[in-house]
Amino acid sequence: MTSLALGIPTIRRDPARMPSMAGRPHTDGLVDKFGRVARDLRVSITEKCSLRCTYCMPEAGLPAIARDDLLSAIEIGRLVGIAARDLGVHDVRFTGGEPLMRPDLVEIIARSSEVALGASISMTTNGIGLDKRVDALVAAGLNRVNISLDTVDRDHFSRLTRRDRLPSVLAGIAGAKRAGLTPLKINAVLMRDTLGGAVALLEWALENGCRLRFIEQMPLDADEQWARDNMVDAAELLAVLGTRFELTAPTREDPSAPAEEWLVNGGPGTVGIIASVTRSFCADCDRTRLTAEGTVRSCLFGDDETDLRSLLRGGADDHTIAEWWRGAMWGKQAGHKINADDFIRPVRSMGAIGG
Ligand code: SAM
Ligand code: SF4
Repeated sequence: MTSLALGIPTIRRDPARMPSMAGRPHTDGLVDKFGRVARDLRVSITEKCSLRCTYCMPEAGLPAIARDDLLSAIEIGRLVGIAARDLGVHDVRFTGGEPLMRPDLVEIIARSSEVALGASISMTTNGIGLDKRVDALVAAGLNRVNISLDTVDRDHFSRLTRRDRLPSVLAGIAGAKRAGLTPLKINAVLMRDTLGGAVALLEWALENGCRLRFIEQMPLDADEQWARDNMVDAAELLAVLGTRFELTAPTREDPSAPAEEWLVNGGPGTVGIIASVTRSFCADCDRTRLTAEGTVRSCLFGDDETDLRSLLRGGADDHTIAEWWRGAMWGKQAGHKINADDFIRPVRSMGAIGG
């Protein structure tokens, strides 16, 4: 059905077929049928990772993507250029897997920032090894990083990520701050297992000048352990944080920004809550995604993918690639349906899509 080797079972629509443009208005941007415009590009660049977070990866890691199936730095740069120049993308974020596992990450950032026409270039990372590479990455054009950290307790960290690497993550955070990538955002996934450490994590973030954001766990774990009944939601987290902090008035200046920012103890410190499951922001979603194998995904939860890699390698011009990308986004689904009875998990887990 498809020339792509995704390292995973089937994808619902044939990615090698041009998506339908029926009813699409003539406009350059990445519009969809629900009036949304995607301007925020997430680019996954690897399936490899130095951790095995239980809410994301299987213990053995994801099936390896063959080297030839991965987009090269040159191909990533070309697609980022098309996104920024022809499709109206103004934020480009590299993710994975763990982006720092790519030896050519500096080249990827350099090529992307060269063609991204003023777009912001950022990365979501677990921070391991960042201290050693951050200066080169910033020199190449990296503007911002989000670092993922769920607990500051070393034993707990080892259990949650199946790796004893907390000191390396903390070194990465220190390195990012030293390089001026501030204010630094820290992402923490909310789980029953992490709830007990939430107060300590927020105390640590406030002391260290980091902007902590808690994310409701989504059913995107490769082990398929997520259960709606057992999920910790934003309300439960607020009750726990409320025992130690005074939290006031959430603000959401940009409606497409998923985090609601609560002031802590009157400010200036804040804590963000991304209630992706219980208060879905799908109606304001402005994301478009590229997988490490070069398919466009219009939604985390939509298995429809469109193969741009074969186009690139088949000699297609930028105009054609942009048209396919527009078609892929025109077909974006309305939302994730996690709370509906007929919800179906996507085929790819979070680490194979890029969070
Ligand atoms: N390895 C990098 C990292 O951990 O930051 C980048 C990739 S990771 C898939 C991107 C983000 O997705 C991380 O902040 C991670 O915590 C989050 N994530 C992973 N699995 C998740 C899940 N099931 N629900 C919600 N967020 C998840
Ligand atoms: Fe790796 Fe990030 Fe997934 Fe953790 S969340 S396993 S660090 S890709």
